[in-house]
Amino acid sequence: MKKVKVDLQCPFCGFCKILKTAPHRKGIKCPACRQVIFLRWATGVEGYVDKYGYYFHAHEPFALNKINQEFEEAFEDEDDFKPRGFTIRQRLKE
Ligand SMILES: [Zn+2]
Repeated sequence: MKKVKVDLQCPFCGFCKILKTAPHRKGIKCPACRQVIFLRWATGVEGYVDKYGYYFHAHEPFALNKINQEFEEAFEDEDDFKPRGFTIRQRLKE
């Protein structure tokens, strides 16, 4: 499977690194402190990379209630700048 770029900035220990992971992953372990960090889509939508080529931003602790909240905000933002030709097919709910 093709791997995607992750911009890791650990919220627990401050460790920063560019990592690669599978695009279906929801969280990643910090190589320094072993805490689990949430993989947020870099652009707020699945399947796109940001201008630096990152598919995920790993800046936030992996906490389910927070993820839901963050996704609500992310989806609100999309009304303002929706990538061309992109349709939201599913929301992440766990
Ligand atoms: Zn860490």
